[in-house]
Amino acid sequence: MNERYSRQILFNQIGAKGQKKLLDSSVLLVGCGALGASHAEMLARAGVGRIKIVDRDFVEFTNLQRQTLYAESDAKERLPKAIAARKRIAQINSEIEIEPIVADVNRSNIESLIADCDLVFDGTDNFQTRYLLNDACVKLSKTWIYGAAVSAYGATMTVIPNETPCLRCIFEEMPSAASAPTCDTAGVIMPIITTVSAVQVTEAIKILTGNYDKLHRSLMQIDVWANDWRKIKLGLPNSDCETCGHGNFAFLDDENQEFSTTLCGRDAVQILPPKPVQIDLRRLAERLKNVADVKQNEYLIRLNIDGFELTVFRDARAIVRGTDDVSAARSIYAKYVGS
Ligand SMILES: [Zn+2]
Repeated sequence: MNERYSRQILFNQIGAKGQKKLLDSSVLLVGCGALGASHAEMLARAGVGRIKIVDRDFVEFTNLQRQTLYAESDAKERLPKAIAARKRIAQINSEIEIEPIVADVNRSNIESLIADCDLVFDGTDNFQTRYLLNDACVKLSKTWIYGAAVSAYGATMTVIPNETPCLRCIFEEMPSAASAPTCDTAGVIMPIITTVSAVQVTEAIKILTGNYDKLHRSLMQIDVWANDWRKIKLGLPNSDCETCGHGNFAFLDDENQEFSTTLCGRDAVQILPPKPVQIDLRRLAERLKNVADVKQNEYLIRLNIDGFELTVFRDARAIVRGTDDVSAARSIYAKYVGS
């Protein structure tokens, strides 16, 4: 074993045997924004042998405050995050394999993305992908590690299908569009990212080295600003859970559960939420006023952001003008409306 990992091998609970297991492991990172970049760096330094990174976004200057893998040159070149991540990780650890995939994660590709991985990380910025991930991981019996962070608050939970509760055992319904703050409207500070991702990666190292008895087995909620750390102990999976109890993988199997996107006219994409919903446009406008000049009437709000024109209607439908790339439009929606 080369000396790179010597201090980690000295840590008794990992040892040379555990290090070998890490080098033989394969993980998937779904999303390589703030949490994902932090996962990638820690896993690469720890010597996880193969890291597959899937992300649909490009590096922007607003990312640099918290997305540790990226540099100003990446933002200037607008490099895809997965590609910029590989470039940086190759400088950190050239002995492991990094597979970058620039793509939107959806029903059509999620199962093949996770099929050959030992473990899946949630580094997404939206509920839709998280519920999809939960369905796919329960279906294929893959352990995944939920993580979320906004403002100074974060949460994480490790899901071992049929052994621990899954995401839908705990949060049965996906929150509706425009109902929750996002990092791009409410802001976020880097320490909460580091904290949540550190707990996630520690769980992964325990799992990959066979230290299952040390998992925290809870829904962990942390507010680094309010100095509040909570652990809600998890029991058994809920036998009535649609996903892990009944084996109904609606997010995976039913196209009506997905946000639909259609090209409308030249250079515009329409996004339609899966369920009819009435949103409070005034509240959404209040949130967005922090980041852009918002024009509103009783039917819609409109703003120019990141080079696009975003129009959101009362039924949570939106039109993103300035692109014909549906995944770029979905990304804008997830960031500024929230899904
Ligand atoms: Zn469940």
